[in-house]
Amino acid sequence: MVKHIFITGGVVSSLGKGLTSASIGMLLERRGLAVSMQKLDPYINVDPGTMSPFQHGEVYVLDDGSETDLDLGHYERYTHARLSRTANFTSGKIYSEVIARERRGDYLGSTVQVIPHITDAIKEAIRAGVTPGVDVAITEVGGTVGDIESLPFLEAIRQLALELPHGDVLFVHLTLLPYLRASGELKTKPTQQSVGKLREIGIQPDILICRTEQPMPSGMAKKISLFCNVREEFVIEERDVGFSIYEVPVMLVEAGLDKLITRHLGLPVEIETDLSDWREMLRNMHLNKDTCEIAVVGKYIELHDAYKSIYEALSHGGVKNHCKVKVRKISAEDYLAQGEILLEGVDGLLVPGGFGERGIEGKIQAIEHARKTGLPFFGICLGMQCAAIEIARHLLGLKQAHTAELDPKCPDPVIHLMEDQRQRSEKGGTMRLGSMPCRLTPGSLAHKLYRVELTAERHRHRYEFNNTYRAPFEAAGVRFSGVNPERNLVEILELPAHPFFVGVQFHPEFKSRPLDPHPIFDGFVAAALAHSKGNSRGARSTQTSHVT
Ligand code: GLN
Repeated sequence: MVKHIFITGGVVSSLGKGLTSASIGMLLERRGLAVSMQKLDPYINVDPGTMSPFQHGEVYVLDDGSETDLDLGHYERYTHARLSRTANFTSGKIYSEVIARERRGDYLGSTVQVIPHITDAIKEAIRAGVTPGVDVAITEVGGTVGDIESLPFLEAIRQLALELPHGDVLFVHLTLLPYLRASGELKTKPTQQSVGKLREIGIQPDILICRTEQPMPSGMAKKISLFCNVREEFVIEERDVGFSIYEVPVMLVEAGLDKLITRHLGLPVEIETDLSDWREMLRNMHLNKDTCEIAVVGKYIELHDAYKSIYEALSHGGVKNHCKVKVRKISAEDYLAQGEILLEGVDGLLVPGGFGERGIEGKIQAIEHARKTGLPFFGICLGMQCAAIEIARHLLGLKQAHTAELDPKCPDPVIHLMEDQRQRSEKGGTMRLGSMPCRLTPGSLAHKLYRVELTAERHRHRYEFNNTYRAPFEAAGVRFSGVNPERNLVEILELPAHPFFVGVQFHPEFKSRPLDPHPIFDGFVAAALAHSKGNSRGARSTQTSHVT
């Protein structure tokens, strides 16, 4: 029988529930158990594919093409859980299924209601998310306890716990102990109230994980236990990590969470949680002395979550190359206004994916600078498309070259709409999505990095390189080093004469793992590190905003 863990959050959002859930998955896997991971999101959008990254951060794409919440990225980076479209359900998806059934007449004249129809559909969704053969199914409930919109999800997990054998369900509640600087103390009241809200619904949390910036003073766990009806030893401290988010699983093991979970669920307790390679990775990260700095020139630069997987993948490249990777976040619009001064002293340029006009000319100018100065460049999706436009304009002399996405009437659409996209009018879930094969050209840089001839990468786009321009590009020194064998779509372009100039139509950041970095990120960081060593100017900007 599969055991279920439900993870809820209280007091405020952005507590790191996704990271904590992923860490719990990892702890169990490191005890030899198989897990499945799932996220339930209370918003009405059917999936986050239509939401702006400014609102919701990046859209994380799975192999099967599902556009999902970015927490699923944490799940894949920390665990081996196999994620597919049943790993992320929103209220919108649940409601649209129930409404479709109602229209078909499946409810045989009943009044369709939140309880039982919506809650039944949520329970079905939870069951569908259990990968066959796993020992533990972990379900994270998005939103904050007390929100109106998450109520049906909480009601459904309450009902499910009643239907499943006693002892097979564990409720974990993640909460915040705010620190009041003026009085110099941590406060438990918001936690008491949040647990009170859960208990009103009928859910008694088994484990409380308390996020805190200061260590919990002695006696605090006892007080929380008393007010929240949770055993004292089940009140766990999760301190803010100063160094790396990859410290979270280690911290939770040190707090004894792995043993509490296994004991409660009747899973083998005598096994040790083996985090040795993970601990070694963290130790090496601390020891790394070398540093390279990479500029990310993008549209959604203010919001760290908008390019979350890219920043993570860069840090994985750092792990592999034994260096720290500093990221300098530059808004593409600022680049347009201020120019190359913003790239002064960096060792690499990464232009990420995106949609829409804003900042595009800034990205193109930054790429021109990287191409001309030998600065390592990595373009992802729109970033690759911008590289193609830059090359067309400045190496091929096609001054009006552009992407048809932004200039549908342009005389040289080097990037144009994919054939099968022409008839599509609906925006949700209609892009070229998910994992597709990519054949690599022997002898190319891409081939050297991947060390295979056929790979598969995840996609999320409507526009592609226009194949009518392939010959003039090749004549100008471009190598098309990755092509989709089924549709002959350009997947990778590179400039062999440049130290590292690679543009990819797919999203390699989704497949990078801390202990198994993506080969292109690995190669890019290696090139940036080499650049930093040969970079005598050594100028380091004060704008560095993020250290991975
Ligand atoms: N907007 C571009 C397209 O649809 C790029 C998409 C992306 O960067 N994810 O092709």
